[in-house]
Amino acid sequence: MPRSLRPMTIHPITTRTLEVLRVADVTPGMRRITLGGPGLRAHTAANGYPVEEIHCDGFDDHCKFILRHPDLPADAPTPAPTQADGVLNWPTDELAVNRSYTIRKWRPDAGDHGEIDVDFVRHGVGPATRWAYTVQPGERIQIAGPKACALQPEGADWLLIGGDETALPAIGRWLEEMSPDTRGQVFIEVDRDDHIQDLDHPVGVEVTWLPRNGAEAGTTTALYDAITGCEWWDGRVFAWVAAETLTLVPIRRWLRREKSLPREQVDISGY
Ligand SMILES: Cc1cc2nc3c(=O)[nH]c(=O)nc-3n(C[C@H](O)[C@H](O)[C@H](O)COP(=O)(O)OP(=O)(O)OC[C@H]3O[C@@H](n4cnc5c(N)ncnc54)[C@H](O)[C@@H]3O)c2cc1C
Repeated sequence: MPRSLRPMTIHPITTRTLEVLRVADVTPGMRRITLGGPGLRAHTAANGYPVEEIHCDGFDDHCKFILRHPDLPADAPTPAPTQADGVLNWPTDELAVNRSYTIRKWRPDAGDHGEIDVDFVRHGVGPATRWAYTVQPGERIQIAGPKACALQPEGADWLLIGGDETALPAIGRWLEEMSPDTRGQVFIEVDRDDHIQDLDHPVGVEVTWLPRNGAEAGTTTALYDAITGCEWWDGRVFAWVAAETLTLVPIRRWLRREKSLPREQVDISGY
């Protein structure tokens, strides 16, 4: 039995520097940064190692953004990984910072070199959010990955999908890329009503938005209540849930213990 109904490919890890092409707000709570430039294509790194073309076929493929720690002196370089032979040498500096983000869209044929979109939730004052909400077109950013690429599940009769706003880029991409005959129930927690997005999805997929209306992320049971209260359809389900780690503990327990779902039908990730 496979570990998951999702076929998985592992690519050699790469690091590359991209150009910020466009910046746009999808909603007041989500900023879309479009990245491109020759760094997306196969090339040779400054240290002579080959860097493969970027691959992002999976709806939740993610990469790490290499960011500046706020305590770094202005004249200090950003600690960053360097390319080696199919692996990366990561900096051990305690002021090295990276954060994971989903590739919301990959357009390999756009422009001269292709484009990727990455959607950043507006929250807190962390280095990634600060970067996304101050960066301008023309600036450059280093990323690492994606490495693992898991495709859509095969052999499921219906999908049970849940997530908070950090999972919304993956869920939005999945909804757009699903086959038109997909059946499923999707529950998405967002901060406020005006953070709800207009997402394309198959007619057999029901999307329910769960605005927290002022409550802190990770402090409500809205996602758990919606998932455990869903109508349990006949057939083989595949469940995918991504959110803040503490939110996931009771959801994972319910899916695995109460609903007795085997490991290959459950994909749960702490974002
Ligand atoms: C595989 C993966 C894919 C991800 N994809 C995306 C994506 O596409 N878009 C996206 O926006 N995020 C995504 N995330 C989540 C993102 O990596 C984290 O939210 C990250 O910590 C943000 O970094 P930061 O530097 O802005 O804030 P941090 O320095 O990490 O945190 C600063 C403060 O921000 C607040 N904060 C941080 N994370 C959250 C949160 N999840 N919810 C509410 N408040 C928070 C807290 O107050 C925290 O103290 C993903 C995470 C993973 C593991």
